[in-house]
This record gives sequence, structure tokens and C-alpha cells, in this order.
Amino acid sequence: MNYSTHHPLGWIEEQLDILHKQDLRRRLLTRAGAQSVQINLDGAELINFGSNDYLGLAADPRLTAAVAAMLHEYGWGSGASPLVTGHAELHRRLEQLLAEFEGTEAALVFTCGFAANTGTIGALVGVGDVVFTDRKNHASLIDGCRISRADVRTYPHADWQMLDRLLSKTSNYRRRLIVTDTLFSMDGDLAPLAELADLAKRHQAMLLVDEAHATGVFGRQGRGVAEYLGLEDSIHARVGTLSKALGCIGGFVAGSRSLIEWLINRARSYIFSTAAPAVTAAAAIAALDIVQNEPERRQELLARAAKLRRQLTDQQWNIGTSASQIIPMVIGQPSRAVALSAALRERGFFVPAIRPPAVPDGESCLRISLTCTHTDEMIAQLLEVLESYKNDYRSPTDIKSVPGRG
Ligand code: PMP
Repeated sequence: MNYSTHHPLGWIEEQLDILHKQDLRRRLLTRAGAQSVQINLDGAELINFGSNDYLGLAADPRLTAAVAAMLHEYGWGSGASPLVTGHAELHRRLEQLLAEFEGTEAALVFTCGFAANTGTIGALVGVGDVVFTDRKNHASLIDGCRISRADVRTYPHADWQMLDRLLSKTSNYRRRLIVTDTLFSMDGDLAPLAELADLAKRHQAMLLVDEAHATGVFGRQGRGVAEYLGLEDSIHARVGTLSKALGCIGGFVAGSRSLIEWLINRARSYIFSTAAPAVTAAAAIAALDIVQNEPERRQELLARAAKLRRQLTDQQWNIGTSASQIIPMVIGQPSRAVALSAALRERGFFVPAIRPPAVPDGESCLRISLTCTHTDEMIAQLLEVLESYKNDYRSPTDIKSVPGRG
């Protein structure tokens, strides 16, 4: 709808126009059919390097069968918040299995990872407290900090020495909480968890980690980066998502029984929101079983990701500090990232352009999300096409001007 400039919403058109001129306006693409390694987006058949379906489970028939088997018994809608009548036996079973999987006393399932982060941070800190957050944390952690009403201290990305100084200066606060992604969603790098765990211990602060992109992928059992680094015992609240490697929907928190009881009593996104349909828990139970019994999926994924990172570096793309299946190729200006993404789409590949505000100014990139269902051939084809574009899009000037990139 076009509003006149005098309409109270008239400013929206102006702002959208500004976004358009800056190459920052987003447009929804629509997928036909299932999320998969080959997708149809807005009518185009593409090889998909833009999903978080890292283990290829989103369309796995075992998940669909699990949902179908429970659908008649549980119906679709859950009808109420978990604290009223929305919490079904299937949710409870999933929570037990998640606690067993994570090796914690208890776990709690939220409708999504975003809600798990905002609800948990808001339950752990409030007025009179302080929360420390990495500059590159996910929006759901940032929003959790904001809505908690605690004082917020943002430290430069991965700069635990700065965090140490901030902690030293804030001992007068009632409670202190450090929050971090373990695997950063845009850069694909790992948080300095050992240092953060040590700081939390020395300064008697709480430590919440968001394993959204690492659950199912990192660690011998697939529990995430904390498992991979042997640091699980030092973490007070572990957040994970069911929506990425597990191919489902929902978020969860794993931790002590008292933490989970507190969240049931205080996490607003849990208390004041309708529970997810019970059958979504049936899918997650099936996915968890696959994560536990098919470790080769994550092993192959990480081996392929390491190889692809080497190959992209050999082509002299700047992949920053990526150490995972999330591999950004730094381009610099949004217009150039959008142009390269469009060019790749013409050649049959979907590799999304990531622009501000998802990344800081000057750090627009193309983000490759690898899954274990990408074949060697698909990856080789992508590399071949990238090779033909590298002289036009790799920009040494942009790369050098991006702070913090090697
Ligand atoms: N944390 C991180 C690091 C994420 O990348 C995301 C989703 N992009 C979330 C939390 C939110 O999870 P969900 O999509 O399940 O709401």
C-alpha cells in the first residue's frame, strides 16, 4: 500500500526507499516443497547453500513418520501455554531425553530458540544486575539483554581480556551474567569458551551459552562446542535449538533442576506463550535419536567444511575466522554482496548475501551454510563458479579495511 506523506505511516515508504537505495532492503523468497539440498525458490531450481539444516534432517522421512504417528492422538494445536494445559506428554518426554542427551539434571523446551534466549536471560538478570554480551552475539541474545532491564555491557568480539576488565569493575552488582554464542552465526567462528568459563569462575558470574548452530554438529556426542572443548561443567545455562541441525522447531535450555524450575516460574516467553504443537516434540525425539546414532553425519559435515574452507582460501576468498560449517566470504559493500549472490543464483546456486544489520557495516558477505547432504560434486561445481567470479568480487581493499579480519 502506498501511504501519502501525511499519513501517520507515511514514513514507512520513505524508510523502505532508503533501504532500497542502500541495497539493504530485504525481499521474501518463497520455497516450493520441502527444505532440502536442492530447492525451488521463487520458481528457480537451486542447489541450496542457505539453510541451517546441517544434518539434512528437515525432510527426513523418519521425522515425518514420527509426526504422522502421533498426529491423531495429540491433534494439531496445543491450545494453551505450558503452565496451563499446553504441556503434553510428548513435550515432557522430549525434555527428559534432552536432559539425558545433555547430561544435565533437567531441560525445558521453548517454542523457538529466540524465545529460549530472551526468556532465560530475562529470568536470570533484571534491574540491579549486569549482563555482558559479545558484540557479535545473535539478535535473540541481544534482545534478551535489552528486555531484561539489567545493565548491558557489550565487549568486542571474543575479547575476553576486555571482559575480564569489565568484570573487575562491576563487582558491586547483585548478579552478573555472561552470554555468548558458542558458534557465531555469521562468522562461523568459535567463542573463546575456556577463557570465558575461567572468567565466570574467577568473578563468580553466571555463564549462559547459545549452542544454536553447534547442537548436533560439534562434540563427540553432538552436544555442541562446550562438549567439544570439554567445558560443559563450567556452564550454568546451555541453550540449544531444535530448528537447525535437528531439522525441527523449538529451542531448549539444559541445566540444573533448580534453573529449570526457575525458568518455569520466571521466563516470560515460556509462561505467556502457547506451547508448540505436541507433535513437534515427536519430530525432535526422532531427530535426537538420529543425532545420537548417526555420528557420521556430523563427522562428514565437519570434514567437508574443513576442506571447503581450505579450497576457498586457496581461491583467495576472505573467509575470516570461520572454523565450522558456516563459511562467510567477506565481500564488503552490500551492493557487491547482493550482486554476487544474484550472479550465483543465475548459475543455479543459492548462497545468501548477508548485509547490515545482520553484520556490521563494511562486512557484507556471502554466507555458505554447508550440510552433510551436499555432495562432493555440488561443492566442486560451486567452487568452479566461484573461481570464475573471484577477480570481480574478491576485493583486497574491502578485505583490508574490515577490522578484525585476518
Ligand atoms: N541463536 C542463534 C545463534 C541463532 O542463529 C538463532 C537463529 N538464527 C537463534 C538463536 C534462534 O533460534 P530459532 O530459529 O530456533 O528461534
